[in-house]
Parts: sequence; structure tokens; C-alpha cells
Amino acid sequence: MAVKQQTCRAFSVTCLLSALLLQTVRTSAGEVKWDENGYVLYCPCMGRFGNQADHFLGSLAFAKMLNRTLAVPPWIVYRHNTYPYINVHVPYSEFFQLEALSAYHRVLSLEDFMEKLAPKYWPTGQRKAYCFETAAQRSADKKSCPMKDGNPFGPFWDNVKVEFDQSVLFGGLSFSAYHQPQWMKKFPPSEHPVLALPGAPAQFPVIEEHVGLQRYVQWSEKMVKEGEEHISTLLSRPYVGIHLRIGIDWQNACKMLKSGDAGPHFMASPQCVGHSRQTALPLTMPMCLPDLAEIRRAVKLWVKKTSARSIYIATDSESHSKEIEKFFNGKVKVVTLQPDWAQTDLYILGRADHFIGNCVSSFSAFVKRERDVQGLPSSFFGMDTPGKLSHTEEL
Ligand code: GDP
Ligand code: MN
Repeated sequence: MAVKQQTCRAFSVTCLLSALLLQTVRTSAGEVKWDENGYVLYCPCMGRFGNQADHFLGSLAFAKMLNRTLAVPPWIVYRHNTYPYINVHVPYSEFFQLEALSAYHRVLSLEDFMEKLAPKYWPTGQRKAYCFETAAQRSADKKSCPMKDGNPFGPFWDNVKVEFDQSVLFGGLSFSAYHQPQWMKKFPPSEHPVLALPGAPAQFPVIEEHVGLQRYVQWSEKMVKEGEEHISTLLSRPYVGIHLRIGIDWQNACKMLKSGDAGPHFMASPQCVGHSRQTALPLTMPMCLPDLAEIRRAVKLWVKKTSARSIYIATDSESHSKEIEKFFNGKVKVVTLQPDWAQTDLYILGRADHFIGNCVSSFSAFVKRERDVQGLPSSFFGMDTPGKLSHTEEL
């Protein structure tokens, strides 16, 4: 069988030691050394932040499984409503600490890879793309990987000034640990040093085995500072953080539940209903799209249980802050920001005394994973005890 998942707690001695050893990839002069074991490059080309984060965890595990250094891509932020409407590529380290990842595996940023290694080891003219045969089928000659076709693919590789010169196709493989030996055999790093992929070598949503890798995703100092400032100036502890994912795109997505087309596994729902299809709990409408009555029920319950003094609302659309204030006759402070970066909301939700998330949202899933790592409690709209049937459904 394939590689065993190495379990390693972020602050354990073995982890620290391996992190120190791994840092030898960078020499004392701060220059980056070439890794003979090769690299994995990919575009986080599917979905917005939550999806990209799920994919990131799987890709990190994939790179470790092949013992290749992961070139950590920037986050793709879509600015559909803000001039000049082009995607912004935000370096990983803007939001999170790149160094914290090396407790798990060797990484460097894609930007560093391009600047410091590519000119010598992955020069223009020798850049191969790797993709599934089925993906290449869509190209004009049926033999080219669709690396730069359309948005966000083209702008992503343009941002790091990459053109691809050749395509290498594969089939009969998946990114799961089951195929590790085939990957090693098919693409030995001596002949295929840089595996550049059109999308993440991972599943969405993140598989259960990789959920815990969230512990290596640690906020950057800048994000901590900004987030803590908001918390101390605006909120009084204990505070309940809620994620209202209720915008128009979400209303449309949740309609699939009504028609019964979705089944219990729908987007990020395994976090609530369980990862196994066989034993999955039902996914109900309030879990996908809570109405004001459900928001009221859940918020009242958790504010009472935690004796909360304030509530933080993060939302993709309307905050309903006035209505929520009324639930408590103005006795609980209700706060909402419209931050420039959605990550500010994620940070504040992550630090709440209790979090109520959305079962189906990968944005909520990011918060839930982070809180699980830290042993902080979370629930969901429509599901007060994650993984258990609610009382009414049991009857
Ligand atoms: P999902 O669609 O809920 O699974 O999560 P994604 O992250 O893939 O896409 C939702 C996107 O909508 C986020 O990345 C944000 O850009 C935006 N969004 C959703 N909820 C919130 C929120 O509470 N606050 C902010 N600032 N943005 C949000
Ligand atoms: Mn999405």
C-alpha cells in the first residue's frame, strides 16, 4: 500500500526537528537550493477561497506523498464587482505563514520558485504541463493540456510569466494514496523534475484524512494583528460568531436540495453529515439556507448557552444585524464589518467563543477545521451537534 500518513503535531519535538532539517533546503545565505526530489506546481483554478483552501490541503498531502517540494500558489481573488475587474493573485504569505507549513512538508512559494529556481532549472522552452488525457481531449489537437485556457487559468500563469512548451498526458491515475507507486514510477523526479498541473492534485471537498492538515495553516502576523484589533475594539467576550451564507448564488445552489438532486453529500456538507456516503445523515434545507426563524433559533440558543455579550456576523450579502439585535432587545452587541478581505471575517469567526457555520459552505468549513484544531466549539445552522441528527429528525 501507499505511503503512510505521517502524524505529527505542530509543536511536537519530532515535528520541530524535521522542520529544522527541512529548512536546509534554504542555505544560510537565504538562497534557495534546488530539490532533487522535484516539485509540484498547480493552479488553484477551482472556486473561491474556501474551495482553494480545501484543495490546498489535499495538494500539500499530495506533494508529501510524492516527496516533492510544493510550490505554494498565490490565492486567486476574483474582483467581479471592483474595477478593473481582473483577478488579484495574493501570495500565500500575505494571509498565512509559509514557514508553519514546513513542520509538515517542504514548501516554497510559487513566486520564489519562479524567481529563484526557474531561470536555471525550469527555463523557458522546457516547461512541460502535465494533465489527464481526458483534459487534453478538449484541446484543438487533442494532445495539449489546457493550462491557460480561459479565466482564471490564463491570468494565473501569466502572473508568474509562464508559457508551456509541451504537454505530458496521463490516465489511469488518481491523486489518492492508492496510486502513489504509479506516480513514482511514471514520473521519477530525475526525468520529470517539475510536475506542473492545470488544477489542484486533490479532491473537493477535502478528504477526511487531510482535514487535520489545517493545523499547519497559521495566520500571518499581519492578519493576527488586524484581526485582534477588530476583536478588542468592537467585540466583548464571550462572543458568538456566525456565518450567514445566504446570497443569491447560494439560494440558487440550495434549490438543488429541494429537488432532491443533491443527496447528503453536497459541496462541503461532509463536515456535517459525515464523510462516508453509506452512513451520511440527511442534509436539510435549514443546513444549506437558514431562514430568519432558524437564524433566530440557533443564535438565541448559543448566545444563552455561552452567556455571550456580543455577536459577530460574517456574511456574503445581508447581515440581518437589525433583526438579530431585536432578538435580544438590544442587550447583546451585534457587530458586522465589510472587510476588504474575506479573510478578516474568517479570522474573527475563528477566534469566537462559539461559531455557528453553514454546513454546505467551504468558507464555513475553513473556520470549523481551524477551530477543531484549537479545540474550540462549533455548530451549524440546522445542526446543533455536528455529526448527530437533530432532535426533531430523530423523532
Ligand atoms: P463556499 O462557496 O461558501 O463554499 O465558499 P467559497 O469561499 O468557495 O466562496 C464563497 C466566497 O464568497 C468567499 O470566498 C468570499 O469571497 C465570499 N463570502 C462568503 N461568505 C462570506 C463572508 O461571510 N464574509 C465575506 N467577507 N465574504 C464571504
Ligand atoms: Mn464556492
